[in-house]
Amino acid sequence: MAFKHFVRDSWLTASYYTGLSQLYHALAGRKRGVISYHNVLPVSSLSAFDTYNVDVTASVFDKQLTFLKKHFRVLPIQELENPQAQGLFLTVDDGMLNNYEILAPILEKHELSALFAICPAMIDGELPHIWRDHLFLLFQQAQGQEIFLPINQYQRPFKITSESECLNSLTRQFKKYVYENQIADIYGLVRQICAKNGWPYAQVMHDPLRYQFMNWGQIQDLTKRGHRIASHTMTHRVLKFLSAQEKQYELAESKKRLETQLNVSVDILVYPYGSMAEIDNATVSAAKEAGYQTALMNVQQHSLSTPHFTLPRFAFPPIADAPHLHAIVSGYKFLFR
Ligand SMILES: [Zn+2]
Repeated sequence: MAFKHFVRDSWLTASYYTGLSQLYHALAGRKRGVISYHNVLPVSSLSAFDTYNVDVTASVFDKQLTFLKKHFRVLPIQELENPQAQGLFLTVDDGMLNNYEILAPILEKHELSALFAICPAMIDGELPHIWRDHLFLLFQQAQGQEIFLPINQYQRPFKITSESECLNSLTRQFKKYVYENQIADIYGLVRQICAKNGWPYAQVMHDPLRYQFMNWGQIQDLTKRGHRIASHTMTHRVLKFLSAQEKQYELAESKKRLETQLNVSVDILVYPYGSMAEIDNATVSAAKEAGYQTALMNVQQHSLSTPHFTLPRFAFPPIADAPHLHAIVSGYKFLFR
C-alpha cells in the first residue's frame, strides 16, 4: 500500500512539473468544481483526532487558496447556480467559531467568498454538539477509564487508552454501529451513553474555535461581507434514516429559521455527510419539497439522477503540496483509482 502511494505520488509530482497534469486539465479535466472545507485552526488547536480529515491549519489553508487562485478560477459564491460559470466554488460546513475568527478573514484577504452550511438548532444551543464531536470529546475526557457503550449492548467495558488511535478507532466503530443500525435518534443514543456512564449530557467546554458554533450575529455578519448561507439541516442527523416527518422538520424548519434569523433567502441545502450512505431518492424529494433549489453532496460520483439536487463536491487533504492539489482539482488523480 505504502509503495503504491509512493509510486502514485512520484508520478503526480512528475506530471505536474512536466506540465502533463495541466495539459490533462486543459483537455479533459474538471471545468467546474465545488470544494468543501470544515475547520481552519491554529497549529496549537489541531487535535490528533481527525478521522474524517476535516481540520486544516491556517497556514496550509492560506497556501491552498494561493495555489487555487494561481492555477484555477475561483468564482464568487453568488455564481454557484449559474450553469455557465466555469470555475471553482468554496463551501464551508458546520458553522464552527473558527469559520468566523480564522477562516473568513483568510478568504477575504484573498478576495474570495464562500457558502457556509449552518445547522440552526446548533446555533440556538438546542443540542450541545454535533453527535460525532460530542462522543469524541466524551471519549477524550474518559481517557484511562473504562466506559460502557452500545456497541456491545453496554455489556463489557471499553478501556480507553491515551493514544489518539484508540479514540479514532472507537469513533469509527461507533459510526459503523450507527450506520448498520440505521439510527435515527442519534442524540437520544448519545444521551443514553451519558446516562449509562454517569456523565452529564451537556456541552464539553473544550477548544471553542474547534467545538463551539458561531452565533447569529457572526453568521449575519458573514452574509453582509459577501458570503452566503446554506442549510445543513437542523441537527446534522443522517437524513436517510429519518421518517418523512422528521426529514421535513430537518429540511423545512432549518430553512425557515435561517431565513427568519438572517433576513436572507436560503435556497441551498448542503446534505450532512453527503455520500450515498446518507442520501437516497426519498431524501432528494424531501429536499425539493422543502423548497430548496439546489443541494450539494460530498462525493464526486453517485447514482442519483437529479443534478441540481446532487451537485458533487470534493475536499482537499490538509496539505499544501501543489502537484497533489493540482491532480485533485483537475481530476487527474482519479484516473489512478
Ligand atoms: Zn457537516
